[in-house]
Amino acid sequence: MKMIGVLGAGQLGRMMGLAGIPLDCRFRFLDPVENSPAKVIGEQIVGPFSQGTHLDQFSSGLDVLTYEFENVPVELARHMAGRRPVYPPPQALEFSQDRLIEKQLFQRLGIQPAPFHALQNLSDLEQVIKAFGFPFIIKTRRMGYDGKGQFLVKSESDAKQAWQDGLGHDLIAEGFVRFQRECSLIAVRSRDAQTAFYPLVQNFHHQGILRLSLVPCQKLTGELQLQAVEYVGRILKELDYTGVLAVEFFVADNKLIVNEMAPRVHNSGHWTMDGAETSQFENHIRAITGLPLGSTNAIGASAMINLIGTVPDVHRMLKIPGSHLHLYGKEPREGRKLGHLNIRADSIDKLMELLQECKDLMPAETFQQFQQTCC
Ligand code: AMP
Repeated sequence: MKMIGVLGAGQLGRMMGLAGIPLDCRFRFLDPVENSPAKVIGEQIVGPFSQGTHLDQFSSGLDVLTYEFENVPVELARHMAGRRPVYPPPQALEFSQDRLIEKQLFQRLGIQPAPFHALQNLSDLEQVIKAFGFPFIIKTRRMGYDGKGQFLVKSESDAKQAWQDGLGHDLIAEGFVRFQRECSLIAVRSRDAQTAFYPLVQNFHHQGILRLSLVPCQKLTGELQLQAVEYVGRILKELDYTGVLAVEFFVADNKLIVNEMAPRVHNSGHWTMDGAETSQFENHIRAITGLPLGSTNAIGASAMINLIGTVPDVHRMLKIPGSHLHLYGKEPREGRKLGHLNIRADSIDKLMELLQECKDLMPAETFQQFQQTCC
């Protein structure tokens, strides 16, 4: 039996636990929010991600510690790592928490990001306007996720407004990428440096939030897969990584442009629960507990639809052939991820057919984008 501590008790922790229990793992979660989604899986210590007596209670008897979201304070992860293994390494957290040093890491490893520039004063902003032209994007360096903390800048007056709105934050400007599609690669590395990579997954976002993932995407060639594996392999090695790592890319003119990485299991890997030989959650648990990795092969074709804000009729969703529903036990609220629906089919053609029935499970724009890029 292995006792695993997880910083965060959201849906990712819950699904990690569901995958780890058959491997005889037990779970304890730390989260400031009472009755979080993972509470049903193991003990939850309610408290902040900072030092205190609750931390001793949380960490007593743990074999290994992991996290389910990347905004855990790095100092806390480092402090915990002094006493027991913490995977993925706290250094990965540090890079992923700051878009500037994350992009500098990608550049150093020869992985091309969109053009970027730190914004510290108005003259930086003027320089960016000259160099990038309109539109470009201003993002907060820290704490941005699901499109939060981003401003699309289309004109001088937008630029001024974004600068005003963002004051008080460290900001970064990014060139606007006219991509044909977005994709991500979910990778896993074991404690003894074995690596495995899932097939590239095509992602559809709406208002900055992931809505739909598809595997395989016929338009993502084998060459792109090899390129993505080579890139992500460099990151895993550089950070001496253990666990699951997700890296998001834009595809423009059949080339990969890296966007960001998440040192954890990832929403765009949820399809693996029903569509791969080993789910990303099981492989994460295998990796951090020193077990051999499982096959990352896809079984047929899969789609993952995020259920956001409300849960549609469950009977109807479960009548879709090959569907599997994963609900997170959260109260409905606008913009909140409440669950996801995986649909698996034997062929991509069959999957495309089934997805035609799922129009109302996603925003109209996402369905339209899916039809334009895939059908
Ligand atoms: P992020 O929080 O950086 O993952 O951004 C959320 C979404 O905004 C991405 O998935 C893209 O759809 C879009 N986006 C972010 N950065 C850029 C960029 N430099 N160019 C074009 N679209 C972007």
